[in-house]
Amino acid sequence: MTKKSKAGKDELVFLPLGGVGEIGMNLALYGFGSRHDRTWLAVDFGVAFAHADLPGVDLVFPDISFLEEERTNLAGIVITHAHEDHYGALIDLWPRLRVPVYATAFTANLLAAKVLGETGAQAVPVTVVRPGDRIPIGPFDVEYINVAHSIPESHALAIRTPLGTVLHTGDWKLDDTPAVGLPTDMARLKAIGEEGVLALICDSTNALRDGRSPSETEVGLELAEIVKHAKGRVAFTTFASNVGRIKSIALAAKHAGRHVVICGRALRRVIDVATELHMLDDLPPFLDEDAYSHLPRDKVVAILTGSQGEPRAALARVPIDDHPRIELVAGDTVVFSARAIPGNEMEINTIINALTARGVRVVTDRDRLVHVSGHPRRGELTEMYAWIKPTIAIPVHGEPMHLAAHADFARDLGVETVVTVKNGVVTRLAPAPVREVDEIDVGRLYKDGKVIGDIDGVGVPERRKLAFAGHVAVSIVMDRKGEQAADPDISLTGLPARDAAGRPFEETVMSAILGTIDSVPRAQRRDPDVLGEAIRRAVRGAVAEVWGKKPVCVVFVAVV
Ligand SMILES: [Zn+2]
Ligand SMILES: [Zn+2]
Repeated sequence: MTKKSKAGKDELVFLPLGGVGEIGMNLALYGFGSRHDRTWLAVDFGVAFAHADLPGVDLVFPDISFLEEERTNLAGIVITHAHEDHYGALIDLWPRLRVPVYATAFTANLLAAKVLGETGAQAVPVTVVRPGDRIPIGPFDVEYINVAHSIPESHALAIRTPLGTVLHTGDWKLDDTPAVGLPTDMARLKAIGEEGVLALICDSTNALRDGRSPSETEVGLELAEIVKHAKGRVAFTTFASNVGRIKSIALAAKHAGRHVVICGRALRRVIDVATELHMLDDLPPFLDEDAYSHLPRDKVVAILTGSQGEPRAALARVPIDDHPRIELVAGDTVVFSARAIPGNEMEINTIINALTARGVRVVTDRDRLVHVSGHPRRGELTEMYAWIKPTIAIPVHGEPMHLAAHADFARDLGVETVVTVKNGVVTRLAPAPVREVDEIDVGRLYKDGKVIGDIDGVGVPERRKLAFAGHVAVSIVMDRKGEQAADPDISLTGLPARDAAGRPFEETVMSAILGTIDSVPRAQRRDPDVLGEAIRRAVRGAVAEVWGKKPVCVVFVAVV
């Protein structure tokens, strides 16, 4: 075989850019074609949320520079469901690619509603598909298969190619009685398994948990019990996108003769979209928060955003009396009907403590069945593997510990080839043998206010230093003879007022400046760079001596 014909051989490859070995920002690529001429299909386009270690950063995206380079070879983006970790990057990053996007109506409408709510956001055109549809996208034939999850219209994708079928599960669970929508389409999954599946790319979130997840309906019954026996007001917090849960809360309120008041823009947006698609039929109207204060305490159920402890969301503002309309007092109940996303525990505990301190009863999933996960436990994974019978298993959607547990589990179930992958690694799925064929650079993009950039580009490293040790600005004016033309100006930000001996830091800084000017030879004092650097070092050294930390220091020297 000549070199040329070897290079021209078609391959099917898998390349995750995000969502493997981490929580959030799911973005998977499938590539078909010869090594140097591949057509790509992107599955999902998600974000992750930033924590305190990224001060000032709102969102984290996968780095899509590879896709920007390959833009003309990117046939489309298919979205499995409308969770932020699967579609949250579209608004900010789709304008860089402008390729076709496919999603079902709920996802498409929610995206459109989000665009309307964000100033300056561009509309993302979406081709609306229905569950069960098969769409040809380049060399890929993509079938949407309904699965149960914690948001309406979640889908697994059967991606058929001339070299075999990949079943990409997206986020899923088995639930015979979901609150909204249909159960996971087992019949279809079994039929696809019978056709023969090359690779199963599957959710690992709960791969460490045995058994099966309880049904959403069981949660609904528990919520109804809580509302029925509550004396004062009842407030629920949950993910705004969990329409099934919102419906369960509304039913619980209806049975107890209470009205539902909703607080938070995201909740109103989701409820409007779900109502339009008839997911919330036969329920009394959802009232706006203005109604809250007019209703007797035993006639109201509130749903609030902020289940992750977000400081600007409705829930966090209530216990510090910062919410204009919602008030909770001793005897009222708050139900956390959501799981804490890892990393948010501290913020959530702060709110729980603040509520508890004022006598509000707090119920979490540690106390009662007020939340279930939307992801499969081992019992459910076993069924999926039995239906699909893949030759290759690739665990995704999880941290390394979840991926490893899932991989071991798949091996125990007898899957021939189990591959653990990393973001940026190109794995050849077909033709056999399965192996790593390439690796590309992957990084992160950070959204900081209205700016998107890499970690240095958004100034995070410098910001961390500022948060740790503050900032000193110094302004010096020298004349041509090397004498000071005016007194130095200083400004200290974020330093303690005084050192342990009681001396103000301004004094320490000022004497370091004056001492340095005296010690620099007169000829060099007219060189702004030399003098500035000497002062900068002296100020940081002097502050470190009495404080133990070096602030960021900027010195301006003017020669007049
Ligand atoms: Zn997810
Ligand atoms: Zn999800």
